[in-house]
Amino acid sequence: MITDPVCGKRINRGKAHIVIEHEGVAYSLCCPLCQAEFERAPAAYAKPDVGKKVRRKPVRHPYRER
Ligand SMILES: [Zn+2]
Repeated sequence: MITDPVCGKRINRGKAHIVIEHEGVAYSLCCPLCQAEFERAPAAYAKPDVGKKVRRKPVRHPYRER
């Protein structure tokens, strides 16, 4: 279960209306209204403990391989 940062509703993983990435954290919004609200003021709703950290693979040096 993940929490919609705008309305606080708990959403089933995969059932979110949309997932928006903001400053490296993915937030799941339940409906177009919450999406619009989040996009209007992402800083007000972005809480890293609510969202899911986006993991990025470490960049490897491309010229190291032989
Ligand atoms: Zn919502």
